[in-house]
Amino acid sequence: MNDQTTRLSCACGKVRLEVHSDPIVNAECCCNSCREAGRRLAALPGAQPVLGPHGTTRFVLYRKDRVTFPEGADLLREFRLSPRSRTRRVVAGCCNTPVFVDLAGGHWLSLYGSLWPAGELPPLDLRTMTRDLEDPSVLPDDVPNAKSHSISFFIKLLGAWIAMGFRNPEIPVKGEIHA
Ligand SMILES: [Zn+2]
Ligand SMILES: [Zn+2]
Repeated sequence: MNDQTTRLSCACGKVRLEVHSDPIVNAECCCNSCREAGRRLAALPGAQPVLGPHGTTRFVLYRKDRVTFPEGADLLREFRLSPRSRTRRVVAGCCNTPVFVDLAGGHWLSLYGSLWPAGELPPLDLRTMTRDLEDPSVLPDDVPNAKSHSISFFIKLLGAWIAMGFRNPEIPVKGEIHA
């Protein structure tokens, strides 16, 4: 573990976040929900695309207690694919930059890799949910491509939760956004 702090921000700079130490895992998600959300969020005014060439979404997963919002937390807005969805995708309302995905009750945040400046993204560890792609054979074989979520993915998440003392910190978000 390192004690390094990485400073990130939305495209316009009003929302600032800091991530501390190392991420849990670096993953690309191929699931239908991430692809639908990626398409819908990209249609918001001024939004930058988050989907990669094969429709994958790059995430850097961090423990919730290792992510802080020194500025602009009040500008965060949540987006849900459907009103009953247990997953919220949180966007910087100032400029529609996607910031993170948060599963209800989860102890981690999946930060959008697009927050990292070019060349500074930590290296990819694995891909998940490749079975949702029409043709998973188009994916490069540089990292393990799991059909759903691999065992190692869950072990990393569980290890982080144990280290956190099984806590689930809340990340308050004030308003909603519709895309
Ligand atoms: Zn902004
Ligand atoms: Zn996904």
